[in-house]
Amino acid sequence: MIPGVKLVILGKQGAGKGTQAVRLCRHYVIPHIATGDIFRAAAAVGTPMGVRAKSYMDAGELIPDDIVLGVIHERLEAPDTQERGFLLDGFPRNTAQAEDLEAMLGPRHLDAVLDLEIDTELVLHRLASRRVCEVCSTIYGSEQQPELADVCDSCGGKLVQRDDDTEDAIRRRLQLYEEQTAPLIDWYGARDLLLPIDATGTPEEVTDRIIGAIDSHRQRSPRH
Ligand code: AMP
Repeated sequence: MIPGVKLVILGKQGAGKGTQAVRLCRHYVIPHIATGDIFRAAAAVGTPMGVRAKSYMDAGELIPDDIVLGVIHERLEAPDTQERGFLLDGFPRNTAQAEDLEAMLGPRHLDAVLDLEIDTELVLHRLASRRVCEVCSTIYGSEQQPELADVCDSCGGKLVQRDDDTEDAIRRRLQLYEEQTAPLIDWYGARDLLLPIDATGTPEEVTDRIIGAIDSHRQRSPRH
C-alpha cells in the first residue's frame, strides 16, 4: 500500500484545492480536513460556533484564530489523523496559524505543502461557474460538469452556489489571500516543504503533477 502522508494544500480560492484534496485523500487513503467544510456544516446545523462563523464567512472575512485553532486542535487529536496522515485544506490561512500548527504537530511534522499556482483571471472565471452539492460538498464547474444539470453525480443532492461566492465576497477573499495567506509560500519555502504546482488543465492532469511532485520530494528528502 502507498505510504501515508501529512500535507497542506495552499492556493487562491478557485485554484482547485477542494477538488484536488478529495482526489489526493483517495489516493493516499488519508482524511481530508477542510476548515471551510467544517464551518459550513456547523453553520447549517446552527451550533453557536457555526452561527458565529457564518457571519464572517458570508462577508468573505477570516474567522478569528481562536475559533479556527480550537477546531483544528480537536480534529488533529482524533485517532484517524494519527495513523496514515491527513490533508489540511483551508488551514493554515496566516502565519500565526502556521506557527500554531508547527507547535501542535511537533515531531509529527508535515511532509509537504502544495501550492496550486493559477492566474487570478482564471479563478474569477472558475468561481463564477462553481456549484457545490449541498449534501456531500462535491464541487462542479466548467471543467467538471454534472451529468444532469444541478444534480450531484455522487449522491443525487442539489447543486447550489456557495453563499460566499458573491462578487464582493470573492474580491475580499482574494485580497485576504494575497495579504495573509500568500506569505506562507515563503514561510514554508524556508522550511524546504513547499511544492509549487501548475494548477491549470484538467483535474486529472493536476493530480498527476501533484503525486509526481510528492514522490520526487520524498526521494530528495527521505526524512519527510
Ligand atoms: P474555504 O471553504 O476554505 O474557502 O473557506 C470558507 C470560509 O471559511 C473562509 O472565507 C473563511 O471565512 C472561513 N475559513 C476557513 N478556514 C479558515 C481559516 N483557516 N482561518 C480563518 N477563516 C477560515
